[in-house]
This record gives sequence, structure tokens and C-alpha cells, in this order.
Amino acid sequence: MRAVTVVPLKAGTAGLTDLPEPPSSDGPVLVQTLAVGVCGTDLEIIAGDYGWAPPGEERLALGHESIGRVLEAPEGSGLAAGDLVVGIVRRPDPLPCPNCAVGQWDMCRNGNYTEWGIKAHHGYARERYRITPDFLVKVAPELGDLGVLLEPTSVVAKAWDQISHIGARANWSPEIVLVTGAGPIGLLAALIGVQRGLQVHVLDQVSSGPKPQLVADLGATYHHGDIPSTKLAPDVVLECTGVGSLVFDAMDAMAANGVLCLTGVSAKGRSLGIDAGEINRHMVLENDVVFGSVNANRSHYEAAAEALAKAGPSWLARVISRRVPLERWQEAYQRQPDDVKVVLQLSGD
Ligand SMILES: [Zn+2]
Repeated sequence: MRAVTVVPLKAGTAGLTDLPEPPSSDGPVLVQTLAVGVCGTDLEIIAGDYGWAPPGEERLALGHESIGRVLEAPEGSGLAAGDLVVGIVRRPDPLPCPNCAVGQWDMCRNGNYTEWGIKAHHGYARERYRITPDFLVKVAPELGDLGVLLEPTSVVAKAWDQISHIGARANWSPEIVLVTGAGPIGLLAALIGVQRGLQVHVLDQVSSGPKPQLVADLGATYHHGDIPSTKLAPDVVLECTGVGSLVFDAMDAMAANGVLCLTGVSAKGRSLGIDAGEINRHMVLENDVVFGSVNANRSHYEAAAEALAKAGPSWLARVISRRVPLERWQEAYQRQPDDVKVVLQLSGD
């Protein structure tokens, strides 16, 4: 079967290659992949900066954001042929740490987890895969292949879940939310904020293209420029860009008892001139919290499935700004100016 694969840590090796059918040892459920989403991690892997092949193999099939249709499932698995499903990305370490042992593989302490399409297991950018039912999440049939947005939504569903846990340290009724970055992660974070009844503001650099209207159509407010120019004092900030100066501007702008969640991964080696004493003072005197959030466990995928089911399908369809057929796979991994989420279609189904 066809798959988009790379030799990890070697730039220029990405290709549409042939892979053997998935082994039955991968699990009793056989799934046909309909589409995979492309994100920054895929581009890093293609650039040769990241990624691990499965043990004993040279190439890694890409793809960790997926939507598929069940072809075969055993009786009693809760799944049936025809169901739309999304595969979870991370698998706990075989000798689980205390968090993996209780299903919190997103909080893994030892880093020995594996990740489909990233770390030591083939991803979903192949025509078929086998899997165990406990790592599949069902998607509402009405959503169709928009379910490809489930995995990125799970990442922000986790971020919001963590924000709620942190907020619960005291009496807390947040009102104003600032999301930095109007890419897919920022837009989906804003979607959940609006669904929670909060006043959501989204900041990005651009003033044209699809992002301002996507934000407006959510019922959120779009800003372009820097954080001080928004004049906001947000209770919650979801930083979705990884831009260092935004992180420190957000710390400075937050209201008392503010919570800043960092979801963007920055490039290393960039230094900023900051007044560390001023930042420390501000954080202590206002009980501010800054924390990082990555990945998602099963409960977050389920929360994400609910959030997508509640969202308007026409809005979700516009988050997918480009669809590329498998034959022209290279185009899916080449960034274009007005891209939001690009999706590679593996099947016309
Ligand atoms: Zn672990």
C-alpha cells in the first residue's frame, strides 16, 4: 500500500513509497485512512530535524492527525465497519511511569512513550492501518472527514482542562481570554473558549487572508499587532505561536490571578533582553501562573469530539484551507501564504 514516508533525521528523503500491509500484531481493528492533517511537526520531520523510525526499519510513515473509516472490527469492540475514527497519537511506555500507568500518557515522566507518525511507530499517512480499539476515538458521522481536526482539538482540549484545574485553586470566574496565533491550534483554542461562554480575543500578525473572518465568525474579536496594543488584561492567555516576545508580553498583560498556557514550541538559541526582576515581582504579587501543555490523553480526545460536534461544520470546513490528493502529496507539505490547516486526502471516500 502507498504511504508518505521519510528516513528520519535525513532531509530530502520524503517520498510516496510502498509499505507492507499492517501486521495483525498492530491490533484487530483495520482502518482505511481517509485523510491526514499536516502540522509543523511533519515539516520538522521532513526537514530532517526530528523523528524516529520503527525499530529495525529505515523509514517512518508520517501523519499523526488523521480521520479513517473502520473496515474490520471484532465483535464486542464497540466499533463496526463504516465507523469514522481517529487514532490516538501517543502510546504509553512499555514499563509505564506513574502517569502512563493510569492513562495519563500526555504527562509521561520518562519520555519512553512512542508516537504514531513521530516516534518509533508508523503514522497514519498510509492507506490502511491496524490498531487496538482502546486507541481509537469515534467521530460523529455528521462530521465526516472534518474529524481530521480532532487531534489538534485534543491538544487544546487538554490545555483548557489544565487551565480549569489551575483556576480551581481559588474562587475564579474568568471573563477575558487572549489567544495568540490564529493558526489551527489558536482557532481551535478560541472555539473552545467561546463554547465556554468566555469573551475571546485572538491576536495574529496578518490583517488579510481567511483568519480575521474565521475569528469573527466564531463570535470572537480579531486583533493584529502586538499584545500591548490590544489594551487587554486577560484572565487566561493561550499562547499558540512559540514566539518568545509574545510569552513575556502575555505575562505582563495578564490580570491578577491570570493563567498563561504555553502550547507553542519555540526555536532554541534566541535570546531576549527582559527584566527578570520585574516579571518575578508581577507574577508573585498577582498570583500569576505560567505553564506548558503538550499532547493529549483519551479524555481530551473525547472532549475534543464533543467540541467539534457542537461547532458549526461550515466553520470547521473553512479551517481546512487546502485539500491535496495523495498523488500530489508534495504540495501538502509546502507552505502557502493563506494556509490554515492543510489536509492530505488518502481516499476519495
Ligand atoms: Zn510514561
